[in-house]
Formats: sequence, structure tokens, C-alpha cells
Amino acid sequence: MANGIDDKIKLSAEILAKSKNAVVFTGAGISAESGIPTFRGEDGLWKKYDPEEVASIQGFRRNPRAFWEFSMELMKNTSAEPNPAHYAIAELEKMGIVKAVITQNIDMLHQRAGSKKVYELHGSIEKLKCLDCRKEYSWEDFSDLLQNSDIPKCKHCGSYYVKPKVVLFGEPLPSTVLYQAIEESRRADAFLVVGSSLVVYPAAELPYIAKSNGAKMILINAESTVADHIFDVVFYGKAGEILPKIVEEVKRIKSRI
Ligand code: NAD
Ligand code: ZN
Repeated sequence: MANGIDDKIKLSAEILAKSKNAVVFTGAGISAESGIPTFRGEDGLWKKYDPEEVASIQGFRRNPRAFWEFSMELMKNTSAEPNPAHYAIAELEKMGIVKAVITQNIDMLHQRAGSKKVYELHGSIEKLKCLDCRKEYSWEDFSDLLQNSDIPKCKHCGSYYVKPKVVLFGEPLPSTVLYQAIEESRRADAFLVVGSSLVVYPAAELPYIAKSNGAKMILINAESTVADHIFDVVFYGKAGEILPKIVEEVKRIKSRI
């Protein structure tokens, strides 16, 4: 087990450089340095909001307005840009090392950083959909309403149940994406987890699937998680500081081969 930060960076870089099928799994923590608040952790939104009320499908149906108030806080930094952690992962994909990114995030920052193969387990904020008539919308369709702190109303059927195409608590995950993510995790020989408390299921099952199929396991998180014991290398720190160092080391190793 490596102890010093430099040893851990070397060991992680060796694992990635040697791998044939590295897979990255990310959570809200990777976007914290882009200014998007996480749910759990020190400045997490659950200190302020009740998840059952604002982020469940039942809560949304009861009170769409409370959901929108919360969502606007989550997205108030809509100008959020990818940070060095997102770029580092995209670079590892470009180098042919990372084969897939599985994310719990809905912010699309991986794609904006250049990652190509991204599985979005919880959907994304790209589009909205009416739960009643299934009509899809883009954000531009409602931009004036939201600017005036009003909530979207379906222009087709008049329903107030128009929500971003993200998975709320109480909703199933998109089954094809989940199936593909399980397959990627099963095939992985190196599995890198970044910024996830590993408590939201079934997403949090994926590291265990990778581990039980023999993958080397790396964790980068600001604080300890419930699953630290399954990892070969554990970093407690900021993803945007650690990941670029790992990429530099991978490049050094590759240039020697
Ligand atoms: P989480 O909020 O449960 O946990 C985030 C973890 O990231 C915490 O353990 C925290 O210590 C860590 N962290 C905070 N800053 C970090 C940093 N700079 N570097 C590394 N780690 C850092 O997040 P989760 O595990 O993804 O699960 C919560 C659910 O919230 C997910 O389903 C996701 O869909 C959703 N979510 C998404 C976004 C987003 O799209 N950006 C934001 C908030 C929540
Ligand atoms: Zn409708």
C-alpha cells in the first residue's frame, strides 16, 4: 500500500498506463471545483434542503415549485465550466487509456471537456420532458419563465409536470445505460472513482462489480467513503489537483516505453 502522495500518484499512473481497459466513475465531487454544489459532504445541499421533498419524483408531483427552486440553486452557476479534473479524464481517453466514463452527474461537463464515451446514469439537464404528454423541450423554450422565477408549463397540454430529463429519487435508472455501465465495469481492469460518496444505489454497486472482476481500484475523494476498503489506492483531496498530476506521470511512463 502506497502512503506518500507522490508514491500514490506513481502507483496510480502505473496502474493506468499498464491497463488495457480503464474505466472512470464520477460523482458530484468532480464538479465541486467548477462551482456546482454536491449533495453530501461539507457544503452539500442536503444541509439546506430535504431530498425527499425536492429531489424525489413524489416530491416533484406534490410540489413542482419547490423542485424548481432547488434546481435553480443547483444550476445557478449555469456558466459552470469543466475543471482540470474533467480535462484530465478527457486527456486519458485521448491517449487511449480510459475507455469509458460512467457518471452520476447531470451537468454534461465531461462531454464539454472532450470526453467522448460517457454513460449518464442519472440522465442530464440537456432536455426537459412533460410527464403527462411526453413532449420534449429545450431550456430556451422556457427561458423567460425561469428568469422571472416562474415554473415551466407544458405548451402542448398545459401540465406543470415538465421536468428536466434527470433521474429523481424514486425513478428507475435508464435501463440501457445501466446495463452498458455494468458491462463496462465488469470488463474494466482499472477502475478510477472520482468525487462520489458511493451511497446512491444502484450506481454505487459498480465499483464492487469492477472489484469482484479483478480490476485495480483507485479512489479520489475529498473525504472517506463507505467503500474505501475495496480500493488499492485512496487519495483524500481535490480531484482538480490530483488528476492532472496522475496524467503527467502517465505521460512520463508512456514516453519511457
Ligand atoms: P455526493 O454529493 O453524494 O458526494 C460527493 C462526494 O464528493 C463527497 O463525498 C465529497 O467529499 C466529495 N468531494 C467534494 N469536493 C470534491 C473535490 N473537489 N474533489 C474530490 N471529491 C470531492 O455525490 P454522488 O456520489 O455523485 O451522489 C449524489 C447524486 O447527486 C448523484 O446521483 C448525482 O446525480 C447528483 N448530483 C449531481 C451533480 C452534478 O451533476 N454536478 C451535483 C449534485 C448532485
Ligand atoms: Zn404536456
